[in-house]
Amino acid sequence: MADRSALRDLLDRHSENRPCICGSTTRLPLPVEDRHNLGIEVCLCLSCGHIYVGRGLSESFTPIFYEKHYRDLYYGSEDREDEAVKQRKLKKAAEIVHPFATSRQADDSGRRVAEWGCSSGWNLVPFRDAGWTAVGFDYDVNYVAFGIENFGLDLRLVEGGEHTSPENRGAYDLIILNHVLEHAIDPIQMLQRLSAMLSDSGQLYIGLPLIENMDSSWYGHFHIAHNHYFSAASFERLARHLGFRVLDSRPEVGDFLLTRAGRETKNPALAGPMEVFSSIYAFYGLWYSHRMRPAIARRLGQG
Ligand SMILES: [Zn+2]
Repeated sequence: MADRSALRDLLDRHSENRPCICGSTTRLPLPVEDRHNLGIEVCLCLSCGHIYVGRGLSESFTPIFYEKHYRDLYYGSEDREDEAVKQRKLKKAAEIVHPFATSRQADDSGRRVAEWGCSSGWNLVPFRDAGWTAVGFDYDVNYVAFGIENFGLDLRLVEGGEHTSPENRGAYDLIILNHVLEHAIDPIQMLQRLSAMLSDSGQLYIGLPLIENMDSSWYGHFHIAHNHYFSAASFERLARHLGFRVLDSRPEVGDFLLTRAGRETKNPALAGPMEVFSSIYAFYGLWYSHRMRPAIARRLGQG
């Protein structure tokens, strides 16, 4: 991996400006830095209140970033072969993801599940063990190979638009998207593609790092791999806009269970000034409590 300053130079050369998901470019820059001190510009949309990266990794450089830099930058100390890491991920899948994701499934559903961005497929293990037909999709050759070898799962490398091929259309009763949507350059396109993979009564489980769930690690929350910083309100607004209905949610941990409602609602850009105001209020409330108050306390010798 390139060292941090070389990587920063590389990213500076491969950055691009982007509009908000609502299409607006009217935005407020936020006082936020990247966790790795790499250049990103986080903005709050003044049309819909969504917080997003207004200048970040270009679409053409993104695959290279994930192929050459992402794992080293984020998981340098984590080894997928590490037994403790493996057990921790399997425990989380069995105790957190699986119970919530299956809580609204009808007993007579076909029990076909897919995970988009499955890595080595840890989340799919409890489904497979409970008799589901489980399929995982990911871009990472090594993690996919590890999951096939160690868990005996049906994991597939994504090449081209494979996941939207005819065989996947309407094929799944449940799709898992766990901490993936915030990485997408175009989350609307990702949700629409996954929606096409759902059966008529299919459900979509989404796990997100919500902005209101930031704890004291303000510094760690914002980073170059995340293009979107949803709140529960902004995510639910987007989901409704794309024709989903929220079946259930656990905003305290960023989990949502959606199904298709069959019709789209107004563009989130038409959300109105109250949503923009509440987004500004929420962001600066967090900014004050996580960044400014500790800094003032230190200044006063109370920290
Ligand atoms: Zn917007």
